[in-house]
Amino acid sequence: AAAIRLDGLSKSYPNGTVAVAELSLSVPAGELVTLVGPSGCGKSTILRMINRLVEPTGGHIYLDDEDITDADPVVLRRRIGYAIQDVGLFPHQTVRENVATVPRLLGWPRAKVRERVDELLDLVGLDGGQYGKRYPNELSGGQRQRVGVARALAADPVVLLMDEPFSAVDPIARTRLQEEFLRLQAEVRKTTVFVTHDVDEAVRLGDRIAVLSEGGKLEQYAPPAEILGR
Ligand code: ADP
Ligand code: ADP
Repeated sequence: AAAIRLDGLSKSYPNGTVAVAELSLSVPAGELVTLVGPSGCGKSTILRMINRLVEPTGGHIYLDDEDITDADPVVLRRRIGYAIQDVGLFPHQTVRENVATVPRLLGWPRAKVRERVDELLDLVGLDGGQYGKRYPNELSGGQRQRVGVARALAADPVVLLMDEPFSAVDPIARTRLQEEFLRLQAEVRKTTVFVTHDVDEAVRLGDRIAVLSEGGKLEQYAPPAEILGR
């Protein structure tokens, strides 16, 4: 697992919106940091800058001590796994094909991809025999989220970025996904940045919590117990 460091990271969109202003934050290797704050405070923009889907207008991003601010996003994909709220599964591909996306892009041999897909479906608690050949619209919301997490982990990235990955499912499924994610995390120990607008979720999952306000301003950054004043 790699540490992530943001140094004075800023993003102003061309329309003048200041989404993130001079954010500095370090995520220690192997820790799970939750970014929490109201809608529009810049959380998604921060993740999208880390994986280079959005170009920062200022500052630097380091993976371990390497400056990746200008890195090629395609190269980064091997090192950074990304899971998002609506999962973004390809509707015309099966569960197995979806999970295999990044390893295939990376040109892994077929047998290795197959083996890895089995391992991942197992890790996220989906029976590959039963669900592997299904299409995303033949799954429940919670099952789709599992596939999204499996896909994000597929190429064994050093960092995991998760943007409200469990927000679209009902509260019961959500609690289960959170518990299972914690169990999975205890096993794989990925450095993770997890975005949520839900304070309970941030507290339940985070080793540390970054509380953000409008403009991506960091208000607090501490372990949950400290944030809750215990
Ligand atoms: P969050 O994830 O916390 O809801 P976002 O990062 O999505 O916040 O958005 C932060 C701010 O940047 C918001 O004011 C949003 O409207 C604005 N924003 C996001 N994407 C764009 C874009 N492509 N162009 C202009 N403004 C944007
Ligand atoms: P397409 O060529 O169809 O646009 P991509 O090759 O861009 O698809 O990406 C395939 C999938 O890989 C995306 O849907 C995305 O969810 C996933 N993915 C995995 N890691 C990353 C990452 N670091 N950045 C962006 N997407 C990623």
